[in-house]
Amino acid sequence: MIYIGCHLSVTDGYEAMGKKMMEFGGSTFAWFTRNPRGGKTKPLEPSDVEALRKLLKDEGFGPLVAHGSYTMNLCSAKEETRSNGFDMLQQDLARMELLPGNLYNFHPGSHTGQGTEEGIGLIAKALNQALSSDMQTTILLETMAGKGSEVGGTFEELREIIDRIEEAGCREKIGVCFDTCHTWDAGYDLVNDLDGVLQHFDDVIGLSKLKAIHFNDSKNERGSHKDRHEKLGQGYLGMDTMKRIALHPALQGLPFILETPNEDEGYIREIHTILAWQ
Ligand code: FE
Ligand code: FE
Ligand code: ZN
Repeated sequence: MIYIGCHLSVTDGYEAMGKKMMEFGGSTFAWFTRNPRGGKTKPLEPSDVEALRKLLKDEGFGPLVAHGSYTMNLCSAKEETRSNGFDMLQQDLARMELLPGNLYNFHPGSHTGQGTEEGIGLIAKALNQALSSDMQTTILLETMAGKGSEVGGTFEELREIIDRIEEAGCREKIGVCFDTCHTWDAGYDLVNDLDGVLQHFDDVIGLSKLKAIHFNDSKNERGSHKDRHEKLGQGYLGMDTMKRIALHPALQGLPFILETPNEDEGYIREIHTILAWQ
């Protein structure tokens, strides 16, 4: 069994997201911790967060997968962008502690011309400063499509970031979110060699680090480095592959988050499709 859900908006509060996902038939969800374009976050009501915690426990939800802002770039060549990103990361992680035991995913970053090696170093440096071994949140690096100067388009790059987390206690707080559209666009053959790709992930990073799936079809061919998500079964991955991913033994127990281009009804339909496979 897997947990399944989609992105929701935090605008109406935290408990409202839990209730909405129950209506959708899901058992996890994702939300942007702030406006996807960056900027201010809504003030947080302790009673609202408490109500969500109760709902998650009572209803048997799986881990939630918060998503950091797209504007957070810890490895930009611009100092100001890096320090803004670091502030967002610190604030987001502090907030996540109000919902202990959940996941915080973010895009490792774009090196904006400095080279992958430098990018990896800057990301690891920020994480070394922001993480603490007593955090109750697991931080996930998302597998990327390798678009432009993105870091994290290969499993090796993600492994390198994790390896550079100095304290063992902090290294334990880092995992990976596997985005099926991104890995396909990065060149990993999920259609013809799903077992091989997961074996490779295990060899390079370790499957124990795999904590969440972003469950998307892709509008583009393998290796396109494009990052354009498609509805389940309507892209190059196709419904057979999506089903094999959802039922893969190595991925059971994980939260699967839909980031497909849908309105509510589309998400409800996809959630029910996946539930029918179980
Ligand atoms: Fe993402
Ligand atoms: Fe994603
Ligand atoms: Zn994407």
